[in-house]
Amino acid sequence: MSKNPAEEVLKIIRSVVGNRDGFVPLHEPSFRANELDYVKDCIDTGWVSSVGSYVEDFERGLEKFTGIKHAIAVVNGTAGLHAAMVVLGVKENDEVLVPAFTFVATANSVRYCGAFPHFVDSEKETMGVDPQKLRAYLKDNTEIKNFECYNKKTKRRISALMAMHTFGHPVKINELVKVCKEFHIKLIEDAAESLGSYYEGKHTGCFGELAVLSFNGNKIITTGGGGAILTNDSVLADRLKHITKTSKVSHPWEFIHDEVGFNYRLPNLNAALGCAQLEVLPSFIEKKRNLASLYQRAFENNPYVYFFNENEGTKSNYWLNTLILKEDFLGIRDEILKLTNADNLMTRPAWKLISSLSPYVSCPQMEDLSCAKYLEKAIINIPSSPYLGEI
Ligand SMILES: *Cc1c(COP(=O)(O)O)cnc(C)c1O
Repeated sequence: MSKNPAEEVLKIIRSVVGNRDGFVPLHEPSFRANELDYVKDCIDTGWVSSVGSYVEDFERGLEKFTGIKHAIAVVNGTAGLHAAMVVLGVKENDEVLVPAFTFVATANSVRYCGAFPHFVDSEKETMGVDPQKLRAYLKDNTEIKNFECYNKKTKRRISALMAMHTFGHPVKINELVKVCKEFHIKLIEDAAESLGSYYEGKHTGCFGELAVLSFNGNKIITTGGGGAILTNDSVLADRLKHITKTSKVSHPWEFIHDEVGFNYRLPNLNAALGCAQLEVLPSFIEKKRNLASLYQRAFENNPYVYFFNENEGTKSNYWLNTLILKEDFLGIRDEILKLTNADNLMTRPAWKLISSLSPYVSCPQMEDLSCAKYLEKAIINIPSSPYLGEI
């Protein structure tokens, strides 16, 4: 046992990752399947842009994998969140409940609609929105008028909740569905990090009115840049297909656009990459879950940190493996970050709370964001690429 706790943590991560030459990133994409063939096919046939068969194949593949009725491919996850809120009817000067502890895109997309994020606390158990705390807060701070929820203080309508599955670990989504029903609030799942994660046997992203996936370069599968919106509601799906494709009315030659639309289409080139990645997604998940179990064992009974393990009733894709510093050891975080990065092992702290970022400091928020504040200080993400868990 070395005397220095940070050195001890570094040693354990190294023991799992192994002695490798060079830099070990947090999450590296892997293109060892049909990626090149499919992309080459786009180039050979000329179908590289917003129309092409890979887009449809990718959408159908996502539907099959997640069990959702409709998947609509879009240019990135952030655009997907924006379009999702537009079709749900989030309006200027509404408020949307957003965890303070999330990636900034979640809140940005709310502002694109002219609405305001209203920041709520998370819980340690899931790192996601705390349903009990949310219910109590809404009881005290909102009133229902005409089947709509209003913030008593700001008088603004609270139209939606954006729940996020943090680092791939499912939030208590069934509980949140109930809270949203009670308070007449629509539910969007930011499932950008949770492709391949399940809550009580059902894929994340299949619980809310709408959900959004991301295929950015650091996610579990990538299309370079890309995203998808999931829904079981065929009316919403039709609306989404329309507005994300410039709201063009079908006609053999006329350019008729019947509302302000968006060019949020995923190019065929990117979808080709996605089709190849989907084929190997199950093996990525298997390797990532194996890596997580190695970390879990290595950090068992560690005096300084917990390894974040999936909760009962959930199956996680372990997108980013997560260490949580115990209360008494928050002070060693920066030393761990320094030592690991100096040793070519990429580690990162979690996001700064969105509620503390300059564009968002004056937005409404729960007075008590204590759990989010703890998570902000206590989390360290550690190397998570599938190849590290090769069996
Ligand atoms: C990656 C991510 C997004 C945004 O996805 P992009 O495709 O990068 O726009 C949104 N929310 C969360 C929680 C994410 O991790």
